[in-house]
Amino acid sequence: MQQQQQPQKQQLPKNFDFLVENYKEICYNIQDSKSKYRKKDDIVQLMGVTKTVDPELINYSIDLGINLLGENRVQEYISKKNFYNKSAEIQFIGHLQTNKVKYIINDVTQIQSVDSLKLAKEIDKQAQKNDIIMNILVEVNVGEEQSKSGILFSDVYDLVNQIDELTGVKVNGLMAIPPINAEEKLYARLEETFLSLKDKNFRQANMNVLSVGMSGDYEKAIKYGSNLIRIGTKLYGARKYMEV
Ligand SMILES: *Cc1c(COP(=O)(O)O)cnc(C)c1O
Repeated sequence: MQQQQQPQKQQLPKNFDFLVENYKEICYNIQDSKSKYRKKDDIVQLMGVTKTVDPELINYSIDLGINLLGENRVQEYISKKNFYNKSAEIQFIGHLQTNKVKYIINDVTQIQSVDSLKLAKEIDKQAQKNDIIMNILVEVNVGEEQSKSGILFSDVYDLVNQIDELTGVKVNGLMAIPPINAEEKLYARLEETFLSLKDKNFRQANMNVLSVGMSGDYEKAIKYGSNLIRIGTKLYGARKYMEV
């Protein structure tokens, strides 16, 4: 007797319910921190940090309402970008080597991790070549840790001032990755620095963005003036491999 043919196993849609739950929880916590610590009309933007995350999951998060993505590594970004739903804005947030600027200059709207004049000059050069002005944030090493990127508080004003001479880049604010369990006074110091720069007159620099706060500290960061939080693991789950 002929065996009855099995119906083809249907590929079940992947279950991304966890992402919906994570997203709701983060949105709730943002609102909660804002209502405790901030003015009613303050905006805190949520960035989805995509390192090691599958494009499929990233696209699902875009559908949920995440319209800003943060990329850490040039190579990973290049291998994934064609799979992304194009409606989200992309910013670069990882350590950036000068020789890689040219690969991202036309895809990202802001480079958050500028911590040297050399890097700013390369961004300026590539931006001018492409007839654009690139928004950048100056990265501050708030914990003053030897091993971390970013510049010292004492050097922030000078670097902003020097970068301000370059016509192809516009300093749009500050970014930081505080040490784990950092004391609140470091966040307060960053906010003070940001606000004091806001009062200064630069040629084109303008302190609009204070990018601080990740999965473990975003509520603390919102308390101290952050208006852009960068969330990876609390949104997409644990990363698939360790970063280098
Ligand atoms: C990985 C990363 C994040 C997100 O970290 P989580 O703790 O996973 O939320 C934010 N900012 C930068 C610069 C990162 O490299």
